[in-house]
Amino acid sequence: MRGFRSGTFERESVPRVLRAFSPKSAVESIQEIELRVLREQGKRLLLLDVDNTLLPWREEEIPPATMEWVAEAKALGFDLCLVSNTRNPERLARLAEKLGADTVRDKFKPSRRMFTIALERYQATQDEALTIGDQLLTDILGANRSGIDAIWVRPMAKREFVGTRIVSRRVERMIGTFLYRHFSGGAATPGLFSHSIIQHMIRFALVGGLSTILDAGLHGVLMLAPLLDGKTVADSVGHAMLGDGNWTAKQVSDAAFGPLKVPTTALAILNSYYWNRKWTFAVEGEVPHGPMIARFFAVALVGLVLSVVVGAYVKRLLHMPVEASWGGATLVATVVVYFWNFFGQRYFTFRGHGR
Ligand SMILES: [Mg+2]
Repeated sequence: MRGFRSGTFERESVPRVLRAFSPKSAVESIQEIELRVLREQGKRLLLLDVDNTLLPWREEEIPPATMEWVAEAKALGFDLCLVSNTRNPERLARLAEKLGADTVRDKFKPSRRMFTIALERYQATQDEALTIGDQLLTDILGANRSGIDAIWVRPMAKREFVGTRIVSRRVERMIGTFLYRHFSGGAATPGLFSHSIIQHMIRFALVGGLSTILDAGLHGVLMLAPLLDGKTVADSVGHAMLGDGNWTAKQVSDAAFGPLKVPTTALAILNSYYWNRKWTFAVEGEVPHGPMIARFFAVALVGLVLSVVVGAYVKRLLHMPVEASWGGATLVATVVVYFWNFFGQRYFTFRGHGR
């Protein structure tokens, strides 16, 4: 099985369409499974696939390692049940006897049928059971559909049913490619600065850039475009701000500049909220917008104040010609505010919801 690696999958972060195929973890062989830990976690019923999980496909001889593993599981107090839709029930019965395990044989996996029968027979809850198998499309999917945790084992032999080899394994490889993107490769869990933070930061910056362009563009249109009978919106707003009088064009435009910034900035923040929720942090499920927008705006508004304060402060520090100091101050303020916004939105607004 190409691409197979043992370790733990982050099932919650796997896209919903593929989650049903995602095992909890993958192991090179059943010997890697930490039975004692599972027992301590409350597992007591093992639902075992047979072919290529416990022994090579179609063989009669059970490997000594499997026999030892089964003995250890029993000693730890596990109930063992072979879950198989084999067309050779006699062989299944023989294997079960050698292993000293129970069997269920019914509608083929990924049907829930056999899993349900086994749970009922042992009066076990879904949480108390664990499925172990070598095929994503049958063992793992069937277990997940039944609400049972599943461990994926590397198939013992290359030899297997021709349909499995030609069709299922190819599909499995494709699904596996996606699943392994949500993989922590062993016991280590990704920390605060997992690789996805880089992706988040790049996306957040791109969204920020888009919103800045939107803000400036819209503000420019309101200031300059003759939309109202040949007059600009800034004309009307400026005159409304200043009241009656003989004002120069510059005074009118200066008076309108700030007030027109309010709706365009608000729209830009809303735009950022939308794309960061949908794309950067990919919030899943029906998370209500209201409280999230409120938090997003709160962070963004503090960011705006911060940009003014930092900008003014840095400008005073820089002993440069006016134009240059203005540019430098803007640059520093932008970087500071970017980090403020990024961490604020990631760990406050979208905390616990994103990927
Ligand atoms: Mg199998």
